[in-house]
Amino acid sequence: MSVNRWRSLRSIATLDAVEGSTSRLHVLQDEVDERVQQMERSHGAWPCRAGCDTCCRRLGALPSVSDVEFAELWRGFSALPLAVRHQVRRRIATLAADAAGHYVCPLLDEESGRCHVYAVRPTACRTYGFYSGRDGDYWCDRVTEHIGDKRDTLVAGNQLAIDRRRDAQFGPSVDLVTRFAAAHDGSNSNE
Ligand code: SF4
Ligand code: SF4
Repeated sequence: MSVNRWRSLRSIATLDAVEGSTSRLHVLQDEVDERVQQMERSHGAWPCRAGCDTCCRRLGALPSVSDVEFAELWRGFSALPLAVRHQVRRRIATLAADAAGHYVCPLLDEESGRCHVYAVRPTACRTYGFYSGRDGDYWCDRVTEHIGDKRDTLVAGNQLAIDRRRDAQFGPSVDLVTRFAAAHDGSNSNE
């Protein structure tokens, strides 16, 4: 087999692998969306929505994503106006935890309270507020208040299970600082 043919087959295989991962990610995220809709149908309009941003302002750790989630996020990031991309880059470069150890997500538009990449946000951002921990904690007072005394009738998502499934399907997550340092789109300060 010629070198060129080998390279061509290898790039097709790589493309197939990327497309396969993207499809599997969409299946996983469609399932999350379906669960979210079921919860809203059974327990009323949830307080989580674009513009409600307390959770994005109080991340307990650096945001981390798998390869395929970053590829999706990057697609959304690359479509943002250059000035916004510069701003996000600057915020990532200076990202630091506050005194309580919380981070403000650098992808949050702090003025509007909306996510710059909402349509392609990571899985963890889709489950937060809807999927609970093993002890039934939702980590948000607004959600806890919304559920009130109807917890027993709620068929909620299991955060640990979805995390494990994501890791098993898409490999380890890497923090956004590392991801952005290795990704180039013309908005890097030295480009
Ligand atoms: S988890 Fe809480 S702060 Fe975050 S979107 Fe839902 S209601 Fe708003
Ligand atoms: S990626 Fe978007 S939804 Fe997720 S924490 Fe950041 S701003 Fe919030």
